[in-house]
Amino acid sequence: MAELNKLTLLEAFAGLREGKFTSRELTQDCFDQIKKLDDKVKAFITLNEDEALAQADAFDAKFKAGESLSPLAGIPVIIKDIFCTTGLKTTAASKILADYVPPFDADTIKRLRDEGAVFLGKVNMDEFAMGGSTENSGFFPTRNPWDLERVPGGSSGGSAAALAADMGIYALGTDTGGSIREPASFCGVSGLKVSYGRVSRYGVMAMTSSLDTIGPFAKSVEDIALILKYIAGRDVKDSTTPDVVVDDYSEEIKKDIKGLKVGLPKEYFVEGMDAGVRDRVLEAAKKFEEMGAEIIDISLPHTDLAVAAYYIICPCEVSSNMARYDGMRYGLSKRDGDLLSIYLNSRAEGLGAEVKRRIMIGTYALSAGYYDAYYKKAMQIRTLVRQDFDEAFKDVDVILTPVAPAPAYKLGEKIGDPLKMYLEDVFTIPASLAGLCGLVVPAGFSENLPVGIQILGKRFDEKTVLRVGHQYQLVTDWHKSKPNLS
Ligand code: GLN
Repeated sequence: MAELNKLTLLEAFAGLREGKFTSRELTQDCFDQIKKLDDKVKAFITLNEDEALAQADAFDAKFKAGESLSPLAGIPVIIKDIFCTTGLKTTAASKILADYVPPFDADTIKRLRDEGAVFLGKVNMDEFAMGGSTENSGFFPTRNPWDLERVPGGSSGGSAAALAADMGIYALGTDTGGSIREPASFCGVSGLKVSYGRVSRYGVMAMTSSLDTIGPFAKSVEDIALILKYIAGRDVKDSTTPDVVVDDYSEEIKKDIKGLKVGLPKEYFVEGMDAGVRDRVLEAAKKFEEMGAEIIDISLPHTDLAVAAYYIICPCEVSSNMARYDGMRYGLSKRDGDLLSIYLNSRAEGLGAEVKRRIMIGTYALSAGYYDAYYKKAMQIRTLVRQDFDEAFKDVDVILTPVAPAPAYKLGEKIGDPLKMYLEDVFTIPASLAGLCGLVVPAGFSENLPVGIQILGKRFDEKTVLRVGHQYQLVTDWHKSKPNLS
């Protein structure tokens, strides 16, 4: 049977259970698609063909033997190259980790491995997740399957691009300030940024520890609901994962949204934004109204300060998190001088420009005499942003916004101007600072490029944002649109 790679997770699950095809056939179709298209898209850093086919065969043997198996078993997943995978190269798209092979699995990877998932390989990203276009990869940029001259978004651009090109059934990414949501929007797939602490960060290269989150990309919200159930929850190895209940998302999303209150924040409709993006969000609001929800105008007054605060907090934490890459413990090591020159040369050669920029900004902002002026101020703003959301959520259940001011831009367009790149995050960063969850679902096009909408929810209220997204996908077909790649 041809093109099993195009299936959603639920379709693949049903097909495997009905014995319509084997996991090996499904996995092989994904690799065939990768081999056909990845020369153009450039999503994969490392292919994991041998292990993946062995995982597929293991599923097929167990299925044949009549064993009871997880819904995720036998199904191929695309993994951002920031998750540690036992025995499989994990680079964070950095030259400093170009040959690093972890001896352990990230918590999410371990969970999926235990469920019997098939690991297709590791995909490209901005180096250590710093960026919004995947152009900051230490190896090569990834391209947007809808227009190969454009960026897929970032930092999880490889995950979104590979999924949009049907190279796998679902994908894993991380989102610190928008890195799942923005590429989901640019590539026309669904993506979930979970609430801070909902999914363990253990074994995922840390970028901004107080903001980093892990989440899935999928071809439908129903698929995301299923995946989340398996990756969410307390992990003793990540003390920021509280013991809050993990809902039965696949059941919760079946409820309709009659009477649900959807906030529309005026600060997210700014001058200069793309008219297509604005119109798609307003059309979605109309759709929600038709579905019985109530649209309520709200205000989140500190929105315009969030980007500035983030680009202090993030570099501060980066400057500390990157200190471990010193050429002594793992990764690239330039052992051609005394200790200091090993540090300096390994880092000079191994780290890219954006990473160095953030290390310098963060070190400066945290130094004595500047701490109060920068870091403390940024943290105060973070509190104000969170309070804005706390206030808003007294009146509404979810908040509907655009994801980025415009659709995918051209490769090279913003890479020379970090400030321009940072401003792409205006609509995603506030929710990150507040630790909220946010779902992106495709909602149409602007000049033939996909546009997503962002549905923000209270911390740990993934069940409501998923419900809104799924109900929307029951009455729209935008998530079924595919790029024309051959
Ligand atoms: N674009 C943002 C940054 O460069 C967000 C990245 C992310 O979420 N990992 O930091």
